[in-house]
Amino acid sequence: MRVLVVEDDVVVQQQITEALTTSGYVVDAASDGNDAWFMGDTEDYDAVILDLGLPALDGLSVLSRWRQSDNRMPVLVLTARDTWRDKVQGLRTGADDYLAKPFEMEEMLARLEALIRRSTGHANPIVEVGPLSLDPAGRQININGNRLELTTLEYRMLAYMMHHEGNVLSKAVLIEHIYDQDFDRDSNVIEVLVNRLRKKVGADLIRTHRGQGYQLTVSAHSGS
Ligand code: CA
Repeated sequence: MRVLVVEDDVVVQQQITEALTTSGYVVDAASDGNDAWFMGDTEDYDAVILDLGLPALDGLSVLSRWRQSDNRMPVLVLTARDTWRDKVQGLRTGADDYLAKPFEMEEMLARLEALIRRSTGHANPIVEVGPLSLDPAGRQININGNRLELTTLEYRMLAYMMHHEGNVLSKAVLIEHIYDQDFDRDSNVIEVLVNRLRKKVGADLIRTHRGQGYQLTVSAHSGS
């Protein structure tokens, strides 16, 4: 999952980035409204954390521009404490949730998980695909109730595929959502990752669609 963090307070930005990275997210950060607007408009994020008080262009304007250009990623707005007007305005501008400062990182993570889950069509906090179950709170994926030992990249990839079960995901999309931006993006790494994951979860759970990408699906199981 790739998340954009927009926050001009360097310390807070760093704290959020650390909390997200530890939880298995790939993070891009912006410190002013113009950068944020551009990044949100050109990159494909799974969610955005958006501070409202920003230099260059305020957070509400950034949000409003994204929504006007039909950018649908879930947005969690950060507001100053006790400013109910900010919360109301944020929600009416197209925010999906808000968090008043100061906040606990655990609460931010829980709200973000809920937003991403809902935006990908999952109501249950534990995302399940066949024998697999994903508990984002523990950064953990189980198979038939047993914990899978996964590297950071394997976790990111399998978690992303579980949220997008049944969809054929191209290498480019997978790379975008699981790799840091400064990583050397070689498409062979996805094949290597898929092969490693197949050894851990069973080969038939991840189908290859030649020239198109990969699909996590349980449908191949039935009847065969
Ligand atoms: Ca601010």
